[in-house]
Amino acid sequence: MKQIGDKLVIATHNAGKLREIRELLAPFGIECLGAAELDLPDPEETGTTFVANAELKARQAADLSGLPALADDSGLSVDALNGDPGIRSARWAEDADGNRDFYRAMKKVEDALGPDDARDAHFVCVLTLAWPDGRVESFEGKVLGHLEFPPRGDKGFGYDPIFVPHGHDITFGEMDPAKKHAISHRADAFAKLTAWLEG
Ligand code: IMP
Repeated sequence: MKQIGDKLVIATHNAGKLREIRELLAPFGIECLGAAELDLPDPEETGTTFVANAELKARQAADLSGLPALADDSGLSVDALNGDPGIRSARWAEDADGNRDFYRAMKKVEDALGPDDARDAHFVCVLTLAWPDGRVESFEGKVLGHLEFPPRGDKGFGYDPIFVPHGHDITFGEMDPAKKHAISHRADAFAKLTAWLEG
């Protein structure tokens, strides 16, 4: 079993992601410290890929805290929109003052889709582990599905209320968190990360 120690910095200021990552790591007995608890800055995501942005966030958190760090870069990729909002998923929710409202972002997606456009979409999640000694490892997960409007359900976060995963007829927003955790893009990336840790 590879070592990440018993303390891990979760390099996110997103409360929804932090909660999901804590729940996914609970079985490993690892104490998760949120970036906000450690007063770490939220770096500007200047990368052009999910991997580049996850690495940038994990690297900064490991360098500043002196602890191993885990970052997640994720987003919704809509086929008919050439992968948008993609790495800009959080930014599509922001107004001119930087306040986020995902109902605004979901409306933007709906408005961008033409009446004949396919509704196929997938969520992507890249998890990157970075160590203070400079090592990094990244793992990419995906969940395929389609979009339905208007948004339904308030159990998840972000774009969950419009995303119906393949093989289901309810949105992630309507799904019990445990069920979402079993099939989500984050769960897929986590399975790859834990297989690597145990390998
Ligand atoms: P970032 O990774 O911090 O750039 O933010 C990615 C954005 O993608 C989040 O703020 C969410 O809006 C969206 N996103 C990522 N994962 C999920 C998910 O599991 N459900 C719904 N939206 C998600």
